[in-house]
Amino acid sequence: MRKNEILQKLPSLLLPWFDAHHRDLPWRKNKDPYRVWISEIMLQQTRVEAVVGYYDRFLTALPDVRALANVQETELFKLWEGLGYYSRARNLQKAARAIEDAGGAFPSDYDGVRALPGIGDYTAGAICSICFEMPTPAVDGNVLRVYTRLLCDERPIDTDRMKAAVKDDLAPVYPSGSCGQFTQSLMELGAILCTPKSPHCDVCPLAAVCLARGAGRQSELPKKGEKRARRVEERMVLRILCDGDLALCRRENKGLLAGLWQLPNELCTPSPAAALAFCEAHGMKPKTIRRELHRTHVFTHIEWKMTCYEIEVEARGGDFVFASAEELDKVYALPTAFRIFCEDI
Ligand code: SF4
Repeated sequence: MRKNEILQKLPSLLLPWFDAHHRDLPWRKNKDPYRVWISEIMLQQTRVEAVVGYYDRFLTALPDVRALANVQETELFKLWEGLGYYSRARNLQKAARAIEDAGGAFPSDYDGVRALPGIGDYTAGAICSICFEMPTPAVDGNVLRVYTRLLCDERPIDTDRMKAAVKDDLAPVYPSGSCGQFTQSLMELGAILCTPKSPHCDVCPLAAVCLARGAGRQSELPKKGEKRARRVEERMVLRILCDGDLALCRRENKGLLAGLWQLPNELCTPSPAAALAFCEAHGMKPKTIRRELHRTHVFTHIEWKMTCYEIEVEARGGDFVFASAEELDKVYALPTAFRIFCEDI
């Protein structure tokens, strides 16, 4: 069977399957673009199971665009804490403010949606097809996996050119009146049947037309290009305590984790002497080093090898905020890289 014939068959094979087997997820309750938008941004780089709890909490606190536009950044980050990639939360608020400035109605055309901060081709495609029934494919990792296996396509999937090509191939087969269901059926198939390891081809609605299955090559696809090596940084982190409160400071407003709260830290070769010298340089008299902890945190392009020293100081000093356990819990959102050192404060 030729490529176009296979693609043409997708709606008739996928839609009945999706109807019968889709997961009952909170963002599928209605087609409100605000709800779909928040879910799509949360789901970037985060598993569905992890998102569900955050999603409900976020929607309860910020039920519409106006609430999101007006919330304090501290509260927004607290709601986002644990999801990582805080720039996504920042962009959500920027976009909400842009919508409010334009009159408060969520844009209902592709270009208007795509122009919002933090919304790329994938998210715009998802929102426009799911909420507005447009034939706009949303090509994510799940869809790329299904596509390349279905057609035994060996092109590497991690290029913009490949994503654009898949989008161009899928758009013409979008079924009028079921565009949203079709987008979701492709994503769902990739998420629950055409999984990266051990795809469930025996129960897949595409099994009869899938070229990779016919050739027994499912495990070889999709292909990826060469990965850029991650930079490894050695970092000294300080858990500075004074009367049970923990020293925090803010990161610079640009770069990795921009503007977020953090534990004091330095790029250096960690040592007890360096930790004590750090406290003294910031006007604090260290009493004792109580503990040394080691953790690694991996970002997309950087890996932090962290050594954390817990130090009790005699008096507060430097430009630090000293947060109580309750404030750490309720007020300050710390990225996971630092939160992992705060569990037992
Ligand atoms: S038959 Fe297997 S490899 Fe092909 S689309 Fe279905 S789950 Fe994926």
